[in-house]
Amino acid sequence: MSLTLEPLAILFFGAAIGFVLLFFLLPRYGPHYTSKLMCPSCHKSFNFHWIPGATIASLIQRNYRVLKCPYCHKKSTFDVAATRVRTARPPKTRGNA
Ligand SMILES: [Zn+2]
Repeated sequence: MSLTLEPLAILFFGAAIGFVLLFFLLPRYGPHYTSKLMCPSCHKSFNFHWIPGATIASLIQRNYRVLKCPYCHKKSTFDVAATRVRTARPPKTRGNA
């Protein structure tokens, strides 16, 4: 009896772990990028942190995000992939700034 239930149990736990990884661990600890964006309204630049493929919206919109400018609070569409800056690791705080 227990042998027939085992594959199902493994499948269930696998799905549960996958769910946790996808929705909780990856958005927080997974790879995320920083984009240097410039607001088309007030022409001020700001950094935006994003996770590739973390949300359903990002899958539909691909590399475009509708964001509010932190300065003038106007909504604009930004191409976050084109403006991406490399931040695989935390930036160096010492040395050449
Ligand atoms: Zn702005």
